[in-house]
Amino acid sequence: MRTLIRDVRVFDGERTVPRADVLIDGALIAEPDGRPVDVEIDGSGRTVLPGLIDAHTHVFDGDLAQALTFGVTTELDMFCLPRNLARQRRIAAERDDVADLRSAGVLATAPGGHPSQLMAAEGMAALGDAVGPFETVADAGQARAFVAARLAEGADYLKIAIDGGTVSGTPLPVLGPDVVAALVEAAHDAGLQAIAHAVTTKDALVALDAGVDGLAHVCFDADPLDSAADDLAARIAAQGVFVVSTLSYFEAITGSPGGAELMRDERIRSRLPEHARTAGDRDTDALPVYSEGVAGALHAARALHRAGAPLLAGTDATPFAPLHGAGMHREMVLLTEAGLTPEEALAAATAVPARWFGLTDRGRIAPGLRADLVLVEGDPTGDITATRAVADVWRRGVRQSR
Ligand SMILES: [Zn+2]
Repeated sequence: MRTLIRDVRVFDGERTVPRADVLIDGALIAEPDGRPVDVEIDGSGRTVLPGLIDAHTHVFDGDLAQALTFGVTTELDMFCLPRNLARQRRIAAERDDVADLRSAGVLATAPGGHPSQLMAAEGMAALGDAVGPFETVADAGQARAFVAARLAEGADYLKIAIDGGTVSGTPLPVLGPDVVAALVEAAHDAGLQAIAHAVTTKDALVALDAGVDGLAHVCFDADPLDSAADDLAARIAAQGVFVVSTLSYFEAITGSPGGAELMRDERIRSRLPEHARTAGDRDTDALPVYSEGVAGALHAARALHRAGAPLLAGTDATPFAPLHGAGMHREMVLLTEAGLTPEEALAAATAVPARWFGLTDRGRIAPGLRADLVLVEGDPTGDITATRAVADVWRRGVRQSR
């Protein structure tokens, strides 16, 4: 099957070509060669993008299909229990109508540590075997066995939670710096990147001291009136650590009205399954609300961008909020509010996560790469919200019926 998208604006993951032809040959992008094609699509007035990569999600049944509807062709899961992970992997491998998946498997946390408290939150029982007790790390001596178990599960990277109760609002057991360092070392020895959940400056410093490769959130606690966020950003940039933005996550857990804008957008709403339209509200009883959280997170993202630290678009999507797929179209808007140009926000959702997660077969539009593509109406390199006007999606060359 050969498909030619003709006369289309191309954002290739790094830069924009105002008008070009893009050839999809089977599962791959190919150099247009002038030979006959099976399908020709008029790209005028439209933009083709690499498939979006959400660099922080949690996958449950149905989520990968919903993600693809919104042009998210790859999800990087940051905590998934073994039976659910095996099922989601099978779905991603066997079906062409779902996003592809990478996962950390079970994250490393102290016994009773974050996010154990969420497993008991309201609404979680409906998620069946995707929630429940999981293996934890009591001391540094257990780090190697924990990482070995993740490798056996097929984890693609290690996730480490460093959170003594900031997200839960009540004190929780937390991994000590020595345990975090042992986990990072064990991950590196096993050839895995180590990515830390930390949402405060203090916890992020523990992660940086331990030599993590990435942070799964920006911090939200730096005072805009002092230089703490800039100091932290400078250290992150100097260490070559990437940061997943998750600004829409901070909107969700703080009950910020900003996220409602997305749900009012008919381009988003019309594509959401019925249950997801009402699932947009988190159970805020189960999570503390920090009214300043979004401003603090935006402040941190601005500092990181100024410092030149790699920012990867990610939502922390769950079955609640942010929503799989849809949330990325809010995340990119928030990245522009943090000072990224629309092109930089699009790169943060495509080529940048592909590079930092070693996904060399995707994230850009170039001959030989996977034909994971999104065709949108208009020009998101000028108006970032144009990503919401999805006209077509290809996953590994398979065109999704619209
Ligand atoms: Zn998460």
